[in-house]
Amino acid sequence: MLDICLLGTGGMMPLPYRWLTSMMARCDGSSLLIDCGEGTQVALRKKGWSPKPVDLICFTHYHADHISGLPGFLLTMGNAERTEPLLMIGPKGLERVVSALRTIAPELPFPIRFLELTEAREQHRIGPYVIDAYRVNHNVVCYGYAISIPRTGKFDAERAKAQQIPLKLWNSLQKGQTITDGGRTYTPDMVLGKPRRGLKVTYCTDTRPVPVIAEYAEGADLMICEGMYGEPEKIGKAREHKHMTMYEAATLAKRANPGELWLTHYSPSLNRPDDYMDEVKKIFPAAKAARDGWSVQLDFAED
Ligand SMILES: [Zn+2]
Ligand SMILES: [Zn+2]
Repeated sequence: MLDICLLGTGGMMPLPYRWLTSMMARCDGSSLLIDCGEGTQVALRKKGWSPKPVDLICFTHYHADHISGLPGFLLTMGNAERTEPLLMIGPKGLERVVSALRTIAPELPFPIRFLELTEAREQHRIGPYVIDAYRVNHNVVCYGYAISIPRTGKFDAERAKAQQIPLKLWNSLQKGQTITDGGRTYTPDMVLGKPRRGLKVTYCTDTRPVPVIAEYAEGADLMICEGMYGEPEKIGKAREHKHMTMYEAATLAKRANPGELWLTHYSPSLNRPDDYMDEVKKIFPAAKAARDGWSVQLDFAED
């Protein structure tokens, strides 16, 4: 099971009715946050989700609307008595940027580790998550993320019995672990069928519509993507500042065909994103103008 919440949907600055864009995922007791602009912890409090189990924070890039909420967020995690290490992932410069912000949050009861992205595409397995980071096209280095929960094949008890695999090892093998017991090594492929479809969510903001975004959104249950402008005439502005319009996001979704597209990172000048959705849905019918706090619980499909 994977819980997703789009905590805010704003770009550039928080508004009284719209927090800055960030996303939280929860799976197996481990939470993951993408971006942490000013007010992210308020949005999280409003949702009623806890900052304490956040094991991982991923940053798309270091513009203030995506990271300036970090010091306060870390202090709140500390006040919740977190002691387990926290991992951060982001473009090159991550440790320098976070260290600068930490001058106002120097004492925390948990250690912070850093994973700086240097390649155009990187994949990391962290806790229950498989994280794909892919470089996009903004006016500073910026990455999109695909968060996946893989699913192993179905456990075949008959095969396990036929191979005389001890019952006590079945559970671990089912979880995909390799075990050595009594001088014999047991691998998951001895008892599992072929991998089944897992869960996948992509999050991408502050970029021109480059093909890699659609590539990673293929087969996703949910694609969360920037739709900064709804007014068609603002395409020039989108090009100039390296953002995208709702129509460009929908065109990427049309190519990728995710289960749903949620638009986010609206310009503060965009008061009513819904006004443009009739046109957007003509391009991709499963497009939605997301609002702050929208969440979804994704479950593995029946076999
Ligand atoms: Zn932004
Ligand atoms: Zn930006």
